[in-house]
Amino acid sequence: MTLINNIRSIYGDGPVPLHRPIFAGDEKARVLECIDSNFVSSAGELIGEFERQVAAFTGACHAVATVNGTAAIQVALRLSGVEPGDEVITQALTFVATANAVAYTGASPVFVDVDEDTLGLSPEALERFLEDAAEVTGKGAINRHTGRRIAAVLPMHTFGHPARIEAIAEICERYRLPLVEDAAEALGSWVDSPGDTAGELDTAINRRHAGTIGRLGTLSFNGNKIITTGGGGMILTDDPDLAARAKHLTTTAKRPHTYEFVHDELGYNYRMPNLNAALGVAQMGRLPEMIAAKREVAARYEAFFADRPETFITERPGTTVNYWLNAILMADRTERDALLQATNAEGIMTRPIWELMTDLPMYQHCQHDGLAVSRWLQDRIVNLPSSVPDGRLTQSG
Ligand SMILES: *Cc1c(COP(=O)(O)O)cnc(C)c1O
Repeated sequence: MTLINNIRSIYGDGPVPLHRPIFAGDEKARVLECIDSNFVSSAGELIGEFERQVAAFTGACHAVATVNGTAAIQVALRLSGVEPGDEVITQALTFVATANAVAYTGASPVFVDVDEDTLGLSPEALERFLEDAAEVTGKGAINRHTGRRIAAVLPMHTFGHPARIEAIAEICERYRLPLVEDAAEALGSWVDSPGDTAGELDTAINRRHAGTIGRLGTLSFNGNKIITTGGGGMILTDDPDLAARAKHLTTTAKRPHTYEFVHDELGYNYRMPNLNAALGVAQMGRLPEMIAAKREVAARYEAFFADRPETFITERPGTTVNYWLNAILMADRTERDALLQATNAEGIMTRPIWELMTDLPMYQHCQHDGLAVSRWLQDRIVNLPSSVPDGRLTQSG
């Protein structure tokens, strides 16, 4: 069987998108109820309900909803103390929003390489960079090459595959660097906690959700993500003070008062509207089924590629992956481009991974560590159609 036939056997004839949203719950009823309530904007009960659902699902103590995932990262960085003129270490192999959020704080991104298997920030590369560049002083870690403060580390869990986040967290602790996780693609992805012995403990209790290991983590609910609110994001944290600060900063820093307008610092209008939260509440109701359906699609791809030269990127032991976007590695860039051509010509949407951030005009002058693995992966990765197949989730509500 060819790859095209295999994709058709999952998604049928006709155009196959890369990833489309699924509305199989009570989305319409929830949105209509929200309109009828008149609370469609930045106040309303559904925002809090959606936040509680996401906190309960991820195990984060607090969740603060935002207008989008990019805003969530920007605010999370500010809350970890990132100031204009600082540096934030992140990966070059990411969606542009990660680097943009750093730039919006007035800090400069510094790009460190990724691991070949997780596609996420490499703890070894991070450690090498810090050993060479970082001097821990009373003012924090100073980059001895630039004189600037390294203010945070921002790994991204690519396509839902958790980066080696516990090793990254340990390095951050040693260098006293706040860790913020861009878990935009990783709702429903988990890492086992260290010390777990397979089979002895209930993994449902001892695994940690992506985005809850760092001091702050962020999610996205854009239309192409695991679940969608149209547009939206979330800040996750276990720290009640940071959660309160996140809420304050995203709601124009307005002090609660019945009628007065007192804003005690420069805040943002970044609160998720209630109308979007209505969609989110309905989507959360089907999340476990959606992830199960996506994992079934991934299993079919994995079986297909088992005896073929291409490598299917599968979950690493000790992690559970949501398989937001399935990905394979081709032999080289020529093979990659040939597959992209052949599938897209058939109406099957596949695509390469993003351009490295250092290849984009606004980030080409940023520091980086050579990015050998990132560049190798960039030449080879192809994303395959990854939606929940039609009819897989039955309509309800
Ligand atoms: C989707 C995404 C974001 C946030 O995107 P928004 O569209 O602003 O919600 C951030 N980082 C990564 C890696 C993403 O894929």
